[in-house]
Amino acid sequence: MERSTDVIIVGGGLSGLALADHLEQAGIAYLILEARDRLGGRIKVGEYNDSFVDLGPSWFWPGQYRIADAVKRFGLKQFNQYAAGTLSFEDQNGEVHRNMGYASMEGSYRVKGGMTSVIKAYAGALDETKIITDAPVKTARLTNGVEVVLENGTVVKGQKLVLAIPPRVASNIVYEPALSVPEIQALQAIPTWMGGQAKFVAVYDEPFWRKEGLSGDAMSRHGPMVEIHDASDMQTETGALFGFVGVPVHVRKGHNEDVAQAALQQLGRLFGEKALKPAKVFYQDWAEEPETSSEMDANPLGGHPSYGLPYALSNLWDGRLMLGSTETASQFGGFIEGALERAEQLANEIVADRNV
Ligand SMILES: Cc1cc2nc3c(=O)[nH]c(=O)nc-3n(C[C@H](O)[C@H](O)[C@H](O)COP(=O)(O)OP(=O)(O)OC[C@H]3O[C@@H](n4cnc5c(N)ncnc54)[C@H](O)[C@@H]3O)c2cc1C
Repeated sequence: MERSTDVIIVGGGLSGLALADHLEQAGIAYLILEARDRLGGRIKVGEYNDSFVDLGPSWFWPGQYRIADAVKRFGLKQFNQYAAGTLSFEDQNGEVHRNMGYASMEGSYRVKGGMTSVIKAYAGALDETKIITDAPVKTARLTNGVEVVLENGTVVKGQKLVLAIPPRVASNIVYEPALSVPEIQALQAIPTWMGGQAKFVAVYDEPFWRKEGLSGDAMSRHGPMVEIHDASDMQTETGALFGFVGVPVHVRKGHNEDVAQAALQQLGRLFGEKALKPAKVFYQDWAEEPETSSEMDANPLGGHPSYGLPYALSNLWDGRLMLGSTETASQFGGFIEGALERAEQLANEIVADRNV
């Protein structure tokens, strides 16, 4: 089978969808090819009754105006991260102390219905015939234009190819002609933000800790979770707590059940008996997902990397091959805002190029 378009967008995460949105408005043809059977990439939620819990990103922050604008444009609701009440701290012996530390996510914003509300809104604004899921791109070719080959052999031809996928994941695609060694090395040198993280979420029929004066925020030196927050959706009766798992990737691999059990016990220590009886739990290990993470992402990052597009990757195939994930945004790289920033920048370049 063969299809053709103007701009081939590989990846239906936020950056790919936002780029498509810009192109749609500029009247430029595109096709999104998404490897998974769902859109959103790192943005994913778990569902319980009418509430949604974020299994990927939860927050955006003041000053991130693109995501704030998108929330407004699509009529979504933002709300403040719940942080009122007493903080908890678990020492290395599993002993719990109250009121130590500070609410590290106080002042951040969340989106009602979870971050996938943003994905659903972007996807809903696009022409659905221009989005193909279950379409992993395996090969990218420079011809007199560009073309990609999907796992099922379908060939898609275009004029420009945007890889809106984490750079390390992009290094697994077969390029014809091959990218140079410095180019592949440059792709692999860019860590996937949060690619080595796992989240445990417990959903309850009510946020009982709030009534007990606890904020839901906790830090732990005992684990398996190192940082815990209230993850309740807005305006539902349901409550939720989530934590980032601090167990190294190679240790937790193959032990999801054990880690989840230990995480639940930890919530019991921190928030009492009621925490041991969740209505539902979710465990999401992003290190296990090859569409997000590579083995290189198993090593914990010391801090937030300085992202942006390195010179070696700035003019691939004479500008026909472009990188588009959040990691290639210079100001907000890694964040949701970075995915929107890079989409905007690429759209400007593509439109300018067309007008030359
Ligand atoms: C646990 C966790 C917590 C986070 N918390 C926050 C937060 O609170 N706030 C914040 O701002 N950011 C946070 N982030 C980061 C945020 O999720 C990302 O910035 C954002 O989602 C990146 O979007 P993207 O479109 O650039 O990449 P992605 O979401 O990774 O999208 C890439 C897409 O490409 C697809 N793909 C990959 N390979 C191929 C292929 N060969 N062919 C076709 N498709 C392919 C993937 O399936 C995916 O859908 C968090 C991330 C994680 C994992």
